[in-house]
Amino acid sequence: MGPYSDLIFQMSLHLIQLPILTDNYAYLAVCSQTKACAVVDPGESDSVLEALDHHKFTPSLYLITHHHGDHVDGLSSLVARYPAPVYGSQFDLERHQIPHQTFGLRENDTVALGISSFSVIETPGHTLGHICFTWSDGIFSGDTLFAGGCGRLFEGDASMMYMSLQKIAALSDHTLIYCGHEYTDSNLAFAHTLEPNNSTLNQKISDVKTKRAKNISTIPTTLKEEKSYNPFLRAHVPELIHSVQKLFEIKNPKDPTLVFEATRLLKDQF
Ligand code: ZN
Ligand code: FE
Repeated sequence: MGPYSDLIFQMSLHLIQLPILTDNYAYLAVCSQTKACAVVDPGESDSVLEALDHHKFTPSLYLITHHHGDHVDGLSSLVARYPAPVYGSQFDLERHQIPHQTFGLRENDTVALGISSFSVIETPGHTLGHICFTWSDGIFSGDTLFAGGCGRLFEGDASMMYMSLQKIAALSDHTLIYCGHEYTDSNLAFAHTLEPNNSTLNQKISDVKTKRAKNISTIPTTLKEEKSYNPFLRAHVPELIHSVQKLFEIKNPKDPTLVFEATRLLKDQF
């Protein structure tokens, strides 16, 4: 790292990834200048409290992508110890779906953290109120975009999720993807069934195997990488369409939403 990368580091967020539960990631996002700290998707409290104690951080706020227990169940204990505002979607606020939620966010709303700030994108599909938090060089994508995959459609439908993923795909290629789960290995195994000849995918599979064997996280990835092998961002790719069609009748294979829908259904059965 030269002086310029140090400078960039100083001006941006410092992220600490916390493996929690079976395969979830919570995050601490810390403003490098002010040390203001955001806790993201605390699905449990013990590991988060331990990390806060260890680094001597006090949460300034909590950011929640969606209401599922594996993203919110740590909130009660955390808020009891460190009271601070809890930000989630306006949709989830109105339905009281996130414990202790104080603020409801909509598309393009911002949340300040020290000298940095997060911008909200609404990404319904996995749940109807799912949101992602973006900043200058990254995104907390929750259970919308995973490395090599995407969230299941629990509340929304395929066209909703496809549009949500397209919004993320429109961010800069350099965007770092910080998602809610370590599912990369099995996601790539599915991707391989559709694009066995994708050399970027095959390289990624072997990199991920090496990392997981050493219990190293595969997150973050970049949007650029994801576009090169994530089947849920590749509904326009002929080899993928061809593979999906062999398993699933698609009315119009030129309609990426229909290709996406079929791909998601195949993944559900994988
Ligand atoms: Zn979820
Ligand atoms: Fe989850």
